[in-house]
Amino acid sequence: MKQYIFTALLLFSVSVAVTAQTSDENPYANNYIYWGYLSDYKQGQATTAFNAINEMLNANPPQKVISLPRELALVSLDQLLHDTDNDATDPFYTFINNRMRQLLKDLDTPVTKGLRIYKLYNDGFIVKSPKATIAIDLIPGGSNAKPFITDSVVYEIAGRCDALFISHLHADHANLNIAKSFAARGKRVIAPKNLWVGVDPLIQPMEVENVETHIEFEELDLTLHVLPGHQGNDYNNINVVEFHNEGTVAHTGDQWGTADLTWIDHVHERYDIDVLMPNCWVNDMERTIRGFGPKLIITGHENELGEHTIDHREAYWMTIKKMELMEDLNIPYVLMTWGEYYDYRK
Ligand SMILES: [Zn+2]
Ligand SMILES: [Zn+2]
Repeated sequence: MKQYIFTALLLFSVSVAVTAQTSDENPYANNYIYWGYLSDYKQGQATTAFNAINEMLNANPPQKVISLPRELALVSLDQLLHDTDNDATDPFYTFINNRMRQLLKDLDTPVTKGLRIYKLYNDGFIVKSPKATIAIDLIPGGSNAKPFITDSVVYEIAGRCDALFISHLHADHANLNIAKSFAARGKRVIAPKNLWVGVDPLIQPMEVENVETHIEFEELDLTLHVLPGHQGNDYNNINVVEFHNEGTVAHTGDQWGTADLTWIDHVHERYDIDVLMPNCWVNDMERTIRGFGPKLIITGHENELGEHTIDHREAYWMTIKKMELMEDLNIPYVLMTWGEYYDYRK
């Protein structure tokens, strides 16, 4: 028995030693020889792949019909983001922060007509009209100790937005530090009922839930319509943002509930939805799309890292397959990754 324990300890310490080795210790690192340095090899491979994906995405921006190079880039990203060895590593942080810096630069470009829709980590979106820039479910991702998007980048993004809308209380949608950074700049945050009560006068939890509510933002020339959705038993704001004259977007948060489908079926009768931004794993994608009746679909919530095992990280390739099943609806969809945007015009 003792011998087994000793052998197990020996194997464990050898494996720790292998994974703990760094390129500094690898005498052949500069020649790209990784023999015996497994962790270094994977980091080298991930860095090369993330860089190539970044370039391929920039050369093949989001379109209604996905090109093969773009599909290959997104599926390759799925593979990297479903290999847990890449979680919280330098190649991943470099990739996501580079994409956010690119977004930051683009956010300074004025929009003259229609809506520019940016996709951010997880279910985060920024929608920019000629008169307003609003963020929905903006979060940094990762842990408080080591967020995916660095504080300085996330605060700069917040600084370029005029308001923040939160779908529901879960940490992959609601982040108090970001809400505070909006309030500190004099910008309103609309949160679900009972979230962040009394934190700041500009952080405004809804007074009701399960009631359709309309909030005017005269200075931004938009109206926020909050529709009462649910994720299981949790309440979930479905934020319908009407940018007067430019278009209306609907963000479903973490919508997952069969009972809500009975009213979702009729949303298109009361609202003229231009762009629907559903969570890619919504419980009934086809019925949800039919209910909102949008002119364009941009899915969110792919590749959520950290909280879930890889079967529920929701890959881009899965969205491609799901949307292939919806082709008879004849509603175009655009698949985007972090930091990308699509221009919508009525
Ligand atoms: Zn949720
Ligand atoms: Zn979520």
